[in-house]
Amino acid sequence: MNLNNIRKIIQRGLILEREPMDRHTSFRVGGPARYFIRPATLGELAGLVRYLSGNGLPYFVLGNGSNLLVSDAGYEGTVIDLGKNDGTEFTMLGIDDGSDPESQLKEGEILFDAGAGCLMSAIGSFAKQFSASGFECLSGIPGCIGGACIMNAGAYGGEMKDIIHSVKAVTPEGRIVSLPRQELRFGYRSSSLMEQGYIVARAELLLKRDDPGEIQKRMEDYAARRKEKQPLEYPSAGSTFKRPEGAFAGKLIEEAGLRGYAIGGAQVSEKHCGFLINRGGATAADIYRLIRFVQEQVEKSAGIRLEPEVRMLGRFEG
Ligand SMILES: Cc1cc2nc3c(=O)[nH]c(=O)nc-3n(C[C@H](O)[C@H](O)[C@H](O)COP(=O)(O)OP(=O)(O)OC[C@H]3O[C@@H](n4cnc5c(N)ncnc54)[C@H](O)[C@@H]3O)c2cc1C
Repeated sequence: MNLNNIRKIIQRGLILEREPMDRHTSFRVGGPARYFIRPATLGELAGLVRYLSGNGLPYFVLGNGSNLLVSDAGYEGTVIDLGKNDGTEFTMLGIDDGSDPESQLKEGEILFDAGAGCLMSAIGSFAKQFSASGFECLSGIPGCIGGACIMNAGAYGGEMKDIIHSVKAVTPEGRIVSLPRQELRFGYRSSSLMEQGYIVARAELLLKRDDPGEIQKRMEDYAARRKEKQPLEYPSAGSTFKRPEGAFAGKLIEEAGLRGYAIGGAQVSEKHCGFLINRGGATAADIYRLIRFVQEQVEKSAGIRLEPEVRMLGRFEG
């Protein structure tokens, strides 16, 4: 890749080489990304994607790295970082509470226009501040809104698809498009954005006004449930596997006798078998081997092949 060409495109953003990815993933593992680029504006992002795609160069979009396993050898392509970094267009949040005479909103509606890098927790706090309801069950997800849109992230009966109004995205050719909710074809932890390789730049979320005390109570309840059930004290990527139809991954893993089972520093959580954790000093290879082992054992005991929900980047053996 010619860095002089990249510097012409990325004038305000950041360009790094060989950036260690363990700094950017919730598993706290992963080798270096050959190039690590943080565009500051939508124009820079679209230009970068046009350049990389046009030259057949591989890239990967990073949010908060909370659903991601990067190999120990790292990634030879370009990581495009849109996540949680102040000072870029992707962390800006606009709010239309209907008070502007030109607002198109109906009575009681509040619209959040969030850059892809806004953290779910930050949006949750703003929603509470503006007495906007609909985001309470999602605000504990430790990712950015862009990743949550393409994964149709969900928790406690709610999913992103319930509140997305529209999305601004960059296509693999580097075109900027606006897509209304109806065109996004959401499924369980999937969307047409994911299938088509679109990059989410911004998302409009439509919330409803509610009593602030009730919103606060619901947020506290969801946070307490997470704290009670999930091993939040260890690095992980949340539920490692998708929920198979008609079953729960954690229950199947427990029934296969794998509670607490460890390979190197990677372990099936004692607290919640659906979480594989880094109990200290794990490598990506440990976690990967444990994922494969769990898949094999559950297939043997229950006849169900668990599918990882966690995204993998780079090369893994076997
Ligand atoms: C403790 C813990 C609890 C969790 N609980 C939940 C839960 O309750 N529900 C749930 O659904 N998930 C949960 N997760 C998983 C994770 O937080 C979500 O999947 C989250 O939506 C991922 O967002 P991210 O920004 O971290 O994405 P990343 O991990 O950075 O990326 C995930 C995928 O999204 C893609 N991506 C990221 N940003 C963009 C973008 N702007 N445009 C296009 N593609 C993009 C990446 O390329 C990658 O394929 C949990 C994780 C942890 C660690």
